[in-house]
Amino acid sequence: MHAGSLASVLTLLGVVTALSYQDAAVTQCCSQLAAQLPNTTFSRDVSNSSIYYKTKTSFWSATEWLNPTCVFLPARTADVEIAVSIFTANECPFAIRGGGHSAIRAAANIDDGILVSMKIIKDITFSNDIATVSVGAGLTWAEVYEATEARGYMVVAGRFGTVGTGLVLGAGFSYLNNRHGLGADNVAGHNVILANGTTVFANATHYSDLHWALKGGGNNFGVVSHYELVLYPSYGCFGGRFTYPHSSIEAVKKAIYEYHVKTAIEDKDVHVLPTYVFADNTTYGYTPVVSNRNVTSLPESLRAWSEIPHTNETLKLRKYGNLANELVAGFPDGQSHYTFTVYPDQAFFSELFDLWEKFCVSMAHIGGFNGLHTVTPITPHAIAEGIRRGHNALGIGQAKPNTTLSVFYLGIIFNNGADSEEVFPAWEIFVRTLQVRASVLGILFPYIMMNYSDHNQQVLQSYGERNVKRLQTVQRRYGPSLVFQRLVTGGQKLQL
Ligand SMILES: Cc1cc2nc3c(=O)[nH]c(=O)nc-3n(C[C@H](O)[C@H](O)[C@H](O)COP(=O)(O)OP(=O)(O)OC[C@H]3O[C@@H](n4cnc5c(N)ncnc54)[C@H](O)[C@@H]3O)c2cc1C
Repeated sequence: MHAGSLASVLTLLGVVTALSYQDAAVTQCCSQLAAQLPNTTFSRDVSNSSIYYKTKTSFWSATEWLNPTCVFLPARTADVEIAVSIFTANECPFAIRGGGHSAIRAAANIDDGILVSMKIIKDITFSNDIATVSVGAGLTWAEVYEATEARGYMVVAGRFGTVGTGLVLGAGFSYLNNRHGLGADNVAGHNVILANGTTVFANATHYSDLHWALKGGGNNFGVVSHYELVLYPSYGCFGGRFTYPHSSIEAVKKAIYEYHVKTAIEDKDVHVLPTYVFADNTTYGYTPVVSNRNVTSLPESLRAWSEIPHTNETLKLRKYGNLANELVAGFPDGQSHYTFTVYPDQAFFSELFDLWEKFCVSMAHIGGFNGLHTVTPITPHAIAEGIRRGHNALGIGQAKPNTTLSVFYLGIIFNNGADSEEVFPAWEIFVRTLQVRASVLGILFPYIMMNYSDHNQQVLQSYGERNVKRLQTVQRRYGPSLVFQRLVTGGQKLQL
C-alpha cells in the first residue's frame, strides 16, 4: 500500500476508534443516569419511547431536530449536579435545552450525546418582600407571566409565550425594556450547576463575576437551574397587534424610525415590535404596539400607529400573558435567523426593507417560504439601566452616548429541507451585504445579539476584546476543564 494511503487509513481508523470510544462513553453516561436517577432518562434504543421522541423534537426550528443517544429530564437541581458529574467523569457530550427556541442547529440539542431538557424544572418562588421571583429554567414566559400577574407583578422577559428562559442568557427583548433595560439586566441572581457538579448562587455580591458573565454569556459557564428575576408591580397593558397593508408601508417605515429616535426614548412606558411579514407573495406590517399602563386607549406617543391605515387591530386592556399567547398564535415554527445592530438611519431602514422585500420575492418559488423582519431599539436609558444594575457582558455600553441602537432580526421559514442548499447560501450573502452597506454608511455597531443570531455569526467576539478577555477569565475560574466548551459544543461558544 502507498504510504499516503496507509496514513489515510490509519487516520480514518483513529477517527473511527475515537467515535466508538465516545459512543461507548455516552451509552455509559445514559446507563449511569438511568441507574442513579430512575425515571429521568429515555433512550433512543428503547422502541416506542414517546417521551424520547417528543423531547428530541420539541424545538421551534427544524434545524434542531437531532438524534441524541438519550434524553435526560432532571426534576431538581440535585439531579443536574449528579448528571454533570457523570458527564464530566466520562467525557460525555451533552446539550442543554431551556424552551427550545434557538434556531441554531445543535444549540440546545445533540446527535449521539445526551439531551438535558430542563422542561420539568418549573417551580416558582416569590421572595418574602415580593421584590424578586425565582423561576425554574423549564418554564415558558407564558407560565411565568401567569404566575406573576396573578399576584399583580411582571418581569422583564420575552414577548412570545412559548419561548423559554434561555432568552435571559442572551440579552432579552421585552415589553418593559424602555424603562427597565434588557431581560438579562433584570436577572438578580443565577442558580448555576458548574462543571464540577456543585451549585452556586451567583448575584451582585456572591460570585459576581459569574453573574456578570451569565448576562450575555449563554451556555458557556454552567447549567442554570433557576433565575431570580426582578418583579415590577403591574396592572397589565393596553396593547395588541396592528396589521398594515402594503399600501401603508411607507407610513410604517416613518413610524418605525420615529419610534427608534424619539418615542421609545421619550415615553419609557411603551413598547413596539415593528414587524414586516412576507407570506404568500405579499408583504404586510404585523406590529405589536403596547402601552404599559392601565388605560383603555393608546397614549399620544403611539397615536401614529393607529393613524396609519390598517386592516386589523387587536388592541385591548389585558394581561401580558394574554398578549404573549396571542403573538405566538400567528407565528409559525421556523428555521433560521440573522441579526446585526446599527445606529438608526432613516434611509438605511427604508433601503433595508426594500432589499429584504426584493430578496423575499426572489425566493417566492420555494415551498412555504415566509420572511420576517423586525427592528427593535435598545435606548440609551435601557443601556444605562444595564450599567446601573451591575453591567452586562454585551459591550453595548460602548455605544455613542445618547444614541439608540437598532437591532435587526431577519428570519426565514420554508417547508422542504431539500431547499436549504438554495436558500441558506443566498440568505447569508444577502445579510452580509446589508452589514457591509451599514458599515460603508458608518452606522454599523459591532454588537450581535445572541438571541437572534445564526450559527456562523461571531456573537461573543462582538462584545469587544475587553469583555471577551473577562469572559475567558471567568470561564477559567469556574470551568478549568472546559466542560462547557468541549462537551457542550452547541450554541454560541467562547473561544479560548
Ligand atoms: C417565536 C420566537 C419569539 C421570540 N421572541 C423573543 C423576544 O421577545 N425577545 C427576545 O429577546 N428573544 C426572542 N426570541 C429569541 C429567543 O430569545 C432565543 O431563541 C432564546 O435562545 C430562546 O431561549 P430558549 O430557552 O427558548 O431556547 P433554547 O433553544 O432551549 O436555548 C437557547 C440557548 O441557551 C442555552 N440554555 C437554555 N437554557 C439553559 C440553561 N438553563 N442553562 C444553560 N444554558 C441554557 C441552550 O443551551 C442554547 O444554547 C424569540 C424566538 C422565537 C423563535
